[in-house]
Amino acid sequence: MGVLKKYGDLLPLTEKTPNVNLEEGSTPLIYLPRISDKLGIKLYGKFEGCNPSGSFKDRGMVLAVAKALEDGKRALICASTGNTSASAAAYAAYAGIPCFVLLPAGKVALGKLAQALMYGAKVIAVKGNFDRALELAREGAEKTGCAMVNSVNPFRLIGQRSGAWEICDVLGKAPDWHAIPVGNAGNISAYWAGYNEYFKLGKIKTLPRMMGFQAEGAAPLVTNQPCPNPETVATAIRIGNPVSAHLARAAVQESSGEFNSVTDEQILSAQRLLASEGGVFAEPASCAPLAGILKLRDLGKLPEGITVTMILTGNGLKDPDTAMSQVGKPIEINDTLEDLMRVLESK
Ligand SMILES: *Cc1c(COP(=O)(O)O)cnc(C)c1O
Repeated sequence: MGVLKKYGDLLPLTEKTPNVNLEEGSTPLIYLPRISDKLGIKLYGKFEGCNPSGSFKDRGMVLAVAKALEDGKRALICASTGNTSASAAAYAAYAGIPCFVLLPAGKVALGKLAQALMYGAKVIAVKGNFDRALELAREGAEKTGCAMVNSVNPFRLIGQRSGAWEICDVLGKAPDWHAIPVGNAGNISAYWAGYNEYFKLGKIKTLPRMMGFQAEGAAPLVTNQPCPNPETVATAIRIGNPVSAHLARAAVQESSGEFNSVTDEQILSAQRLLASEGGVFAEPASCAPLAGILKLRDLGKLPEGITVTMILTGNGLKDPDTAMSQVGKPIEINDTLEDLMRVLESK
């Protein structure tokens, strides 16, 4: 069941809202026994890579596109580090309307670019960073009346609350810690709003600490100043001036959480750990939370036995180049049993 149907009661739908549905949401909350044991906690990964376009962006995009259609909009526009464009392009294709996506030239993971092009979006590579592409998209939307579907679109963040509701529905409570990567800072804000809504409805009795993780080379919420030249292998969070910084700061403050940064090396090492000891392949940005939890453990700041959910925001298949640069090559053999046995018997 898609997000609009599953959580329609909690969303701003009217009789005029068209039904848009790519069966997004209802992603698995995976308990990770080996990594949990290693860390002395109960660790769950919410695998948002199982969404139709392979990232959590679909949760908000479905509502943003439904409301845009309701509002009579006939085209979408967005700037993107990759996943927003893939998601917008998918829903535009579903709805049968054009989609313009502005990407920072040369800085988008291969799978995401392939998706946007395959879904039939008009893909525009901007010679500049994401923050500049976002400014341009906003101006373009204003001039043309295209629906702007970046997370400045309030419906995006409302739809993304559904992730928090699902976690609580599955666990029967809120986690102790909610660990999440932070780029433009919309998702952490949406989750906090979602938990609070469930709290007010009496569906949960406690609220989690919101733990936001950024890449060291793009950590404006950790350093408390915009980062003019963000740089990280985790391209989905390569953002120097987060649009929802104020909301994210409030979420962290109100929940007694914190922002922290991790290096690219820590992110990639966490990505390999999650895949090889968890069985889940998530893209680099999605692994910043696990890198952060490991960092806090090393600092003696990870309480024992707590329940931690981390949001694995996007599918590892989206960024095959980064993955291949981390791992060895396949073992090539001649097509003989002798050659095969040599491999099977080696350690
Ligand atoms: C968009 C995205 C993020 C960052 O989310 P924000 O809401 O911009 O903070 C993290 N990981 C992935 C895979 C993303 O696509």
